[in-house]
Amino acid sequence: MASCSYTVPDKNASGDNLYGSIICNQAYIDYFWNTYGFSGNKDYWDDGFGWEDPCNTDKPLARAFNACYLLTYSAEDFSNESWDAPILNWGRRYVRNNIDDLRSLCGDGSAIARAYSGIFVDDRVEVYLGFFYSKDVPGRAETLIHEARHMGGKSHNANFPAGSVFGGGKSGADSSWGYEGAWMYGALYLWWFYAAGARTTSAMKQRARQRGNLVIDNAFATHPGFSI
Ligand SMILES: [Zn+2]
Repeated sequence: MASCSYTVPDKNASGDNLYGSIICNQAYIDYFWNTYGFSGNKDYWDDGFGWEDPCNTDKPLARAFNACYLLTYSAEDFSNESWDAPILNWGRRYVRNNIDDLRSLCGDGSAIARAYSGIFVDDRVEVYLGFFYSKDVPGRAETLIHEARHMGGKSHNANFPAGSVFGGGKSGADSSWGYEGAWMYGALYLWWFYAAGARTTSAMKQRARQRGNLVIDNAFATHPGFSI
């Protein structure tokens, strides 16, 4: 994999120091590698992306593992993955079931991540530099949920509202909260993480709340009419 250049933002603010101190454990590394679509994709995670250095939270792989930890263990009773439980519980199961091919690429800056699926398509999720370096750890978990929802068959079906930070009038929004699309799944996950997240800090929860509200305010053609 070609190397690409990046700068590493404040790792206390992003949560990478917090979670990075936990994920540097072979049991976690093996579990995440084998569970969330990394396995079989060494070529996409080696060289500068961290395969040789999975505890180094300057590098993409460890930063992805931080999100995997959050996604896996943020419910108090994380072993309960029932679909009847909050998304904080079953989010890990949903991502596990829907993303079996996760690839890291430099990208061209136009997207955080992309999901590819369909007939004659090599089903996969690609994550780009913005995933690792513009998003904090809760935001990366949101992206995994979002892309998993695409892999689960739900596309965007609307244009962003006027003034949206995601580009007013451009495609890529969801029509409404009730559409239960990728933006709704991501925001709902952040909401639950804010409200009930375990094994984290109040600072991380506040960041999740901010991001969730940004999604609610900018990613739906019809505003859901509430905030977190
Ligand atoms: Zn999307």
